[in-house]
Amino acid sequence: MSKLMVSVSGIRGVFGEGITPEVVMKYASHFGVFCKRGTIVVGRDSRTSGETLRNAVVSGLLSVGCKVVDLGIVSTPTLLLAVEESDAKGGICITASHNTAEWNALKLIDENGLFLFPERAKALFATFENEIEYAEWDNLKGVKYDYKAAARHIYRILKIPYIDLEKIRSREFKVVLDSVNGAGGTISPFLLDQLGCEVIELNTEPTGHFAHDPEPLAKNLTQICQAVKEHKADLGFATDPDVDRLSIISEKGEAIGEEYSLLLATDYVLSKNKGDVVTNLSSSMAFEDIANKYGVNVHRTKVGEINVGKKMIEVKSPIGGEGNGGVICPEVHYTRDAPAGMALILGLLAERGKKVSELVEEIPKYYICKERIEVEPSKLDRVMEKAELLFADRKLDRTDGLKVIGDDYWIHIRKSGTEPIVRIYVESVSQEDADKKGKDTVEALLKGL
Ligand code: MG
Repeated sequence: MSKLMVSVSGIRGVFGEGITPEVVMKYASHFGVFCKRGTIVVGRDSRTSGETLRNAVVSGLLSVGCKVVDLGIVSTPTLLLAVEESDAKGGICITASHNTAEWNALKLIDENGLFLFPERAKALFATFENEIEYAEWDNLKGVKYDYKAAARHIYRILKIPYIDLEKIRSREFKVVLDSVNGAGGTISPFLLDQLGCEVIELNTEPTGHFAHDPEPLAKNLTQICQAVKEHKADLGFATDPDVDRLSIISEKGEAIGEEYSLLLATDYVLSKNKGDVVTNLSSSMAFEDIANKYGVNVHRTKVGEINVGKKMIEVKSPIGGEGNGGVICPEVHYTRDAPAGMALILGLLAERGKKVSELVEEIPKYYICKERIEVEPSKLDRVMEKAELLFADRKLDRTDGLKVIGDDYWIHIRKSGTEPIVRIYVESVSQEDADKKGKDTVEALLKGL
């Protein structure tokens, strides 16, 4: 039986087990009070439990006197942007992101349109023991429906000042799009149409019945890879259910790996707009290579887009994000935004006049191995203690979990903020070496656990 996972980024669980209407209603009520009973914007991805949980969230918010603006099924970046653009006091995003269909979650958004900073989330948690004070019957408000948020999001992307729309449109790119029947179908086909692309749509109905494992990793993208080849497309775009992670498929029908979404977008943006760039500790060393090409610095933060976004605001970064396909383009909003990423990648292709595989070739190649250890939640700390002992004699960075820094490799070991797992990421100069280091680390950490 999976339990409710509570973390600073929200609550998450399997529907009917960890996450239930009762749980989310109470949570939403506390959040409504925390946001001074103001207007709250609500949206969800396409999961089958989404409508049920949306109703509970809306009831919780209304019961304490909040006004609700309901965006329906939208991408997470669309929702964050809508909160920023409005005078709402907060937002609730109902999505379990890349998790499989039985999961769902609530993510909380502050009035500035960014996810709640950890310190704000902790302040909210502290109110959970309080009795909920419901609004008086004559002070209850209602729901306003707003189905234009995706259109405003597209408009904002098309207004990115350095993108040459006519150049992109003149190329008439043939693009295969896989939205895995998540929320992507509500925005991506329309954006690509605006960019003059011929779009071959796969899984763009937001039914919540995911066509494959929804995490946009190469191993889950066989259908789109095949379709790119069959249709002789210029490239393919795949997104996770809430559309903040982007994966690219080359014209050869190969999933080039999520890391390249940020790398290629960064190469493009820095050629237009120089400034320090920001990514997390788990992203590729190739990020430094691209930054060096343009003579700018790289800032590395803890994993989690809020940490990257916060640093980007601080250093006025023109581009940043996470190696898991999370491109943050501040001209749109400080959040991981797959549609914005698509526009940047098409801008790059149009401008350089090269194919995806040729652009990938230009970037120094490193190899990543992503491992995970699933253990009982009570043993997670024990795994981290073992990692400390195992690598005690190495150069270490403890900004976020444990990062072992070698001359031409790194190993990053950290507890997931959202699931009962320890993630182990290794990057090295060969796949063989990365895989070996990943496997050896997992074995050593599991031994005698
Ligand atoms: Mg996501």
